[in-house]
Amino acid sequence: MDARAKTGVSIRGATRRYGAVTALDDVSLDIAPGEFVSLLGPSGSGKTTLLGILGGFVQPSSGSVWVGERDITFAPPHKRNIGIVFQNYALFPHMTVGENVAFSLRARREPKSTWARRVAEALAMVELKGYESRSVHQLSGGQKQRVALARAIVFQPQLILMDEPLSALDKQLRETMQIELRRLHRQLGATIVNVTHDQREALTMSDRVAVLKDGKLVQIDTPERLYDRPCDAFVASFIGEATLLDVSRAGDNAVRLGNTLLRTAHPLPRGDKLLLAVQTEKLIIDGENRHADANRLSCRVTEVLYQGESLRVFASLADGTAISLRQPGGHDARQRIPAPGAAMTVALDPQDTIVVPA
Ligand code: ADP
Ligand code: MG
Repeated sequence: MDARAKTGVSIRGATRRYGAVTALDDVSLDIAPGEFVSLLGPSGSGKTTLLGILGGFVQPSSGSVWVGERDITFAPPHKRNIGIVFQNYALFPHMTVGENVAFSLRARREPKSTWARRVAEALAMVELKGYESRSVHQLSGGQKQRVALARAIVFQPQLILMDEPLSALDKQLRETMQIELRRLHRQLGATIVNVTHDQREALTMSDRVAVLKDGKLVQIDTPERLYDRPCDAFVASFIGEATLLDVSRAGDNAVRLGNTLLRTAHPLPRGDKLLLAVQTEKLIIDGENRHADANRLSCRVTEVLYQGESLRVFASLADGTAISLRQPGGHDARQRIPAPGAAMTVALDPQDTIVVPA
């Protein structure tokens, strides 16, 4: 069987140029049926362009898009059976909630006799049961986004594209909606491609995350792999709260940070310029030397910042290199943090000792 037959959506070598700007640069990506993939990257990295190529509103300069065995590179958006959700909802203000959702069915010439039932089902899915006759003006931001979602799922598309769907919502509502979207994804079984610049949101919702930089796909992996094994300094610094420190090669599975030898459980990358990428919460204060197999760093505490649920501890190594770590805010963990000026030993597991090319 052709590999594509088992694949939800495939993008093959997609490039998009706007004059001298290469918005998307030779991106290939296979998305499995029913998978939830987030496109993550800073502003201008090509996320919307890639989503547009999937949706059919941006034409690639070269490359192709496949759904199963069908080449849809030049198929117009309405022929793609794709549901789309935008950041700004794009609801029709003069229509009711029900009319907004039914619009997708009207546009696809679905039999009118089915509209009421299908709109009711879609609204129930997004927890807006019975909202059909409400005016769009009466809704909060979160409710508007749910209506936009209902409109995108009411015709049971095989693929749902979302461009920063939660970025207009406040933090608390955003986190609630992240959990809701995951639930909805499980219920629908549809393939979802979601654009976000929020790494936490991407890690929370996705089966896999594709990290984009300057139009290039840098790494695509599960949230755990992306967090534990970033492939380069960009991914390491974009995911979580990593510190990047210059290190030198010291054998096959070891590097030197100043005078300290650190063992890593992973093969070192090629090249002479290496960086240790260390997430703040992977450094453990090791007062009682409990972590026998761990790497150890001797340092001196420079500052402790209380930040509510956690504390950020800044310290410097003997050669002055600054490091920082995060400790839980509970009483027990706080007791273990030495005062500024005091000496401290921190442990770093060889599994968490990640070295990337500089
Ligand atoms: P993102 O969604 O990650 O912020 P975009 O895909 O919107 O990034 O844009 C990627 C790059 O392509 C940017 O440099 C942007 O300015 C450029 N770009 C996107 N769309 C157009 C367009 N219609 N005309 C010219 N340049 C564009
Ligand atoms: Mg964008």
